[in-house]
Amino acid sequence: MSKVKAYAALSPTTPLVPFEVDRREPGPTDLVIDIAWCGVCHSDIHQARDEWGGSLFPMVPGHEIVGKVVRVGGAVKRFAVGDLAGVGCMVDSCRTCDSCKRDLEQFCQKGAAFTYNGTEMDRKTPTFGGYSKQVVVTEGFALRISPKLDLAGAAPLLCAGITTWSPLRHWKAGPGQRVGVVGLGGLGHMAVKLAASLGCEVTMLSTSRAKEADARRLGAHEFALTSDRATFKKLAGHFDLILDTISAPHDYNAYLGLLRVDGTMVLLGVPPQPAPVAAHALIGGRRSLAGSLIGGIAETQELLDHCATHGITSDVEVIPVEKVNEAYGRMLKNDVRYRFVLDLATL
Ligand code: NAP
Ligand code: ZN
Ligand code: ZN
Repeated sequence: MSKVKAYAALSPTTPLVPFEVDRREPGPTDLVIDIAWCGVCHSDIHQARDEWGGSLFPMVPGHEIVGKVVRVGGAVKRFAVGDLAGVGCMVDSCRTCDSCKRDLEQFCQKGAAFTYNGTEMDRKTPTFGGYSKQVVVTEGFALRISPKLDLAGAAPLLCAGITTWSPLRHWKAGPGQRVGVVGLGGLGHMAVKLAASLGCEVTMLSTSRAKEADARRLGAHEFALTSDRATFKKLAGHFDLILDTISAPHDYNAYLGLLRVDGTMVLLGVPPQPAPVAAHALIGGRRSLAGSLIGGIAETQELLDHCATHGITSDVEVIPVEKVNEAYGRMLKNDVRYRFVLDLATL
């Protein structure tokens, strides 16, 4: 065991504070990673404030981790000391169930080991995330990061990137398809970049008029203001695929009306409260309402390789660790352009 500096939420109602966690001695298949950068995801806020219920405290959030390998166990094959490595939302899974065999570890039937606010597969040892100096992870759940990428900008690919990539791939987004992205924050800006890189016709649907120029710079072909009711008339029946990244409760029915016949709206945002869905919003156009959770390890590697090839990273605002509470406050006011990333050298 070694003691590692971290930042933690000690309760749902108090700001994050400096903290220390125990990291295990690396086993034969483990890597020890010195964390350089960690993105701040809205899921960190939901969980640190226990908005989804069942949060475990003390909690060290952070699942968009990039750093350098400083130790490897004797059986590690794909990583060596000095390599770059990334860790996303999971650190292990059962590896034997149907989901795991299909490279869908996020849906592990025994329950994956999530990077924080969970336990290792022993169901006893708590997991602590990337708001810390080091992490120990089994090599099968570590991702390769190309040195060609800006590393602070690469960190958010581990959650915001894969969460938007996976539904684009699953619903076969490509040229000729109209994709609507709802909410221009961390997930939304990656969705715009990735959908544009796949050749889709991308429309940004946002409550923030001030983000229009950015949306177009990120790759959106159109911008529509959702605080304007006229938008829902003008774009009725328009989209093949909508990715909904909104973090707060909102009316799903209004957005379902924007789908074409056989179109699909995928919920990515996880508002704490449920919202009603009217059958009428679906049956008229044989529309689907779906959901998607991050992505498997192989698909995450596919995304990272796609980003290295196309030079895609997140637009980040790098901050020292002690500003994380301020960053949470700004995200809650939709004031994020477009991902806060913690510089762990400041811890
Ligand atoms: P974020 O950076 O805070 O962005 C959320 C955006 O949603 C805001 O910038 C804003 O965009 C829009 N929004 C916020 N409140 C709104 C409201 N009341 N009405 C309408 N629009 C609103 O958050 P994020 O990190 O992208 O995460 C978004 C959500 O996805 C969170 O709920 C998070 O937990 C969830 N998530 C899910 C997965 C998954 O696997 N499914 C993975 C990661 C995160 P505009 O200013 O453009 O309106
Ligand atoms: Zn996340
Ligand atoms: Zn499994």
